[in-house]
Amino acid sequence: MNQLLNKISLTLSQSHIDSPRLEARRILSFICHQSEDEVALLDRELSAEETQKLNEIIRQRQAHKPLDKILGTKGFYKYDFIVSEDVLSPRPDTEILVEEAIRLLTSDKAQKIIDFGTGSGCILLSLLAENKLWQGQGVDISPKALDIAKQNAALLDVEQQVRWINKGWFDADLGLALDSPVDMIVSNPPYIPSQDIQSLDEEVKNYDPMLALDGGEDGLHHYRQIAKVSSPLLKEGGYILLEVGIYQAQEVAEIFCQAGFNLVKIVSDLGQIARCVILKK
Ligand code: GLN
Repeated sequence: MNQLLNKISLTLSQSHIDSPRLEARRILSFICHQSEDEVALLDRELSAEETQKLNEIIRQRQAHKPLDKILGTKGFYKYDFIVSEDVLSPRPDTEILVEEAIRLLTSDKAQKIIDFGTGSGCILLSLLAENKLWQGQGVDISPKALDIAKQNAALLDVEQQVRWINKGWFDADLGLALDSPVDMIVSNPPYIPSQDIQSLDEEVKNYDPMLALDGGEDGLHHYRQIAKVSSPLLKEGGYILLEVGIYQAQEVAEIFCQAGFNLVKIVSDLGQIARCVILKK
C-alpha cells in the first residue's frame, strides 16, 4: 500500500491540500477498515469497488470538500464524532475547553451541564463520557444538528445521561424547557463577525453551517444573549466556559462580568490565541 499512499499523497498535494500524506493515510484507512498505522503495511491490491470509492473521495477532496465532511467523521478529544454539513466540524482548539471543564467539575457527585449550541455534541458528549455521574442538556436551534448529536451520544454510549432541547437562546420559553439550576454551562457559539465570513477559508465557508459561524456585526451578538439568559440557569458558584474567536476574550469577559459573573481565567489554545473564557457565578 505504500506505493498507493505515495500516489494519493502526490495527487492531493498537486491540488494544494495541506497535509497530503496524512490525508492519504486517513483515506486508505477508511477504505480498508484498518487503523492508520496498519494501512501502510498492508500488502494487497484494492478491489474494484474500493478503487471506485477511493476515486470518488479524491474527486471530492480535489474540489476542496473537507475530508471529515467526505468521510463523515472527525476525531475530537478522545473520540471520533459523526459530522455532516449540518454541524460545525469539531476543532482541536475546542479541546482545551473540554479539559478545563473536566478539571472544574466534581468527579464524585452528580453534575448538571448545559451546552448552548451543541452541534455535533462534541463538547457535551466528551464530558459525559468522562463520568457516568454527569448529566447534560444539549441546546441547539437546528433539528438536523440534534440528529447528529443523538447519533454521537449513541456512539459514545451516553444516551442515558443526556437530553436534547431544540431551541435557541433568543427563544422566550428557553428557561421553561431546561432543567435548572445547573453546575456548569459550556458553549462554543457562532462568533465570526458577519463581514469576515466572506474571507473565511473556502472549506469552512462552504461546508460548515452559517448558523454555527455568524456572530453578528461584531461577532459578539450571541455572547450578549447567553450572558443575559445564563444567570438564572446556573447555581451559585457554578461555572460558565466559553470558546471565543481571536481578540474577543477581553470583551466577552466584560460582557459576562457586567451580567454578574466573575472572571476566573482566560486560557490560550496551542496557537497561543486566547480561546477559552472561564467565569464563575
Ligand atoms: N472556530 C470556528 C472557525 O474559525 C468558528 C466557530 C464558531 O464560530 N464558534 O472556523
